[in-house]
Order: sequence, then structure tokens, then C-alpha cells
Amino acid sequence: MLRRYSDILDGEIEAKYLEAKSIEVDFSKSDDLEALWKKHDHALENPKIADAPEKSLLDLKIEIAERISRSCRFCERRCGTDRSRSYGMCKVKESRVASEFLHIGEEYMLIPSYTIFFSGCTFNCVFCQNWDISQNVCGRYIQPEDLAKMIRIRKSQGALNVNWVGGDPTPNVPYILKTLRFCDENIPQIWNSNMYCSLETMKLLNGVIDLYLTDFKYGNNKCAEKLSNVKRYLEVVERNHLIAYEQGDLLIRHLVMPNHIECCTRYILRWISKNTPNSIVNVMEQYRPEYKAHEYEDISRPLRISEYEEALEIAKDLGLNVI
Ligand code: SF4
Repeated sequence: MLRRYSDILDGEIEAKYLEAKSIEVDFSKSDDLEALWKKHDHALENPKIADAPEKSLLDLKIEIAERISRSCRFCERRCGTDRSRSYGMCKVKESRVASEFLHIGEEYMLIPSYTIFFSGCTFNCVFCQNWDISQNVCGRYIQPEDLAKMIRIRKSQGALNVNWVGGDPTPNVPYILKTLRFCDENIPQIWNSNMYCSLETMKLLNGVIDLYLTDFKYGNNKCAEKLSNVKRYLEVVERNHLIAYEQGDLLIRHLVMPNHIECCTRYILRWISKNTPNSIVNVMEQYRPEYKAHEYEDISRPLRISEYEEALEIAKDLGLNVI
């Protein structure tokens, strides 16, 4: 069910980013953004493979990403910050790595996973378990070539994949693409995200990301606005899940929250069964009230076993691929 991911691990196919490095494109710094996007889309649809091309599709993606970051719209907050000068609403300016290590707490098919935690986030979840890194500027800037070296080392230590997360990886698109320019390992790239990315970001990820590991939190915009301070949640996240389903493998996580079975869990699981039926689904039980959750009565207690069982029952009745 994670076909692409398994085939890369078996050495049968290449990780997408390696192919993006071998697709030849012709562009120049004087091209305007619209012209760059046209060349990008054409190269994706009609790839011209070359040995060590002078300019590759990955180089073109980096050029586009750098231009977007000058008036940032990597996420649907579209706050327009010039990230070379100041921090966006996500508290990201330059990319900072809060920690990186071989993670053994992810889904069984992903571990050990070389997990790179960026600081900052496009959401402000009141129950965030990583609030110390997601809601604060912290961590350190690592040169992309040095992080690429770390990827090589972690792979030799047994990492099955590179797992880009945070906070959220979305504000860090240019940095991730630049790091991959220095990589040559055949290792799957995982986008571990809340999926509040802009369409531009989803286009830049196309041809780079092998597996989308998503966090589908809410079944309506009211809960999203109240608990994560985001607007248009459902429209954005549903759109991006449909794109991800087309672009690569899809593993959807849903954290079941107390008192949110009817408004969120049931809706999300039904949506998955209708729209991305072959995705893998992880119905998660580990909710605990952290950060500011005690200020919100509905989520101020841990999940009851009966609530988790109800969520699992819904997923089972819908015939989802639950792990
Ligand atoms: S990623 Fe950050 S800086 Fe960019 S649009 Fe979103 S909130 Fe603003």
C-alpha cells in the first residue's frame, strides 16, 4: 500500500528527488516567476533526463522557492513576509533545526526514521505537545551541505527515510530543496505535515516527496479556528490531501481528541473512505492535555478508552486501511 516507499527501500526505483536532479531544464535568473512556473510544469510533464545536467528541475524549484520566500506564501496564511528580513507568522525566518535523530517512535514501516525537527509552525494548536519548539524561535541554522552529510551518516546507521517535520516543514521548503541538492542517497523523502501548505508549495513538492505523512486534525473550520487559529482549514487540507494522493504514497494520521468524535473524527474518516480509500490510516490514541489545553473544557482531559474504541469502530466499519 506504500508501494513507492517500499520500492525505493528495495532498490527497485529511485527516490523522486534524484530524478528531479537529473531532469534538464533551461532557465535564467532574469526569467519572471510566471515563466519559471511554465518551465517547471513543462519539465514535470515532459522530463528530459540527462547525466549531471547544468541546470536541473531541482535547481529550478530552488529558484522558484527563493522568490516565493521574499513575499512568503508557502502556507495558506500567505502572510507575505520577506523571510530574508523578518520572521513570518510561523516564527520562521531562516530555517532552524531544533533536533535531528533516528526516531523509533513512528509507524512500524518507517522506523528507524531520520527525523529532522524544524522550529516554528504554521499552526498555533492550543494542545501542541511540541509547543516549546513549534511556538518559539529556537534551534540552530545548519548549512544545507552539512545536513546532507548527516543524511548520509544516518542512512549508514540504518535510517530508512528522511522525515521532514517540525513544528511543520512548510516554511522550510527552500532549505529542504537546497539540502537535497547536496544529497545523492537513494532514500525516501517524507513530508510530515499539517498540510496547510499553499498550492505553490504542493507544486514544488511534486517530484520531490515520496511519502506524505499527514496530520488530519479537524472535521470542520470552527474547531480548527478555535484550537489551531487557522481559517479555511477544511478547504485547504482536503485539497492538499487529494493532491498528495495523486503525487505519492499517503499515510494519514488522525489524533482522536476528547469530545471531538462527532464533529471531527467521524467526518475525517468518512472523507478518507470516499476520497483517498487506498491511503493508510493511523487512528491515534495518545492525546493528552498539554500546553494551553486546560483552558479549553472540551479537550482538558485525556482521551477515554471508550472514545478511542468508538473511533476505531468507525474506521473499521468504513473499511479503512488502519494500522
Ligand atoms: S510559511 Fe510562515 S512566513 Fe510563509 S506564509 Fe506561512 S506563516 Fe507566513
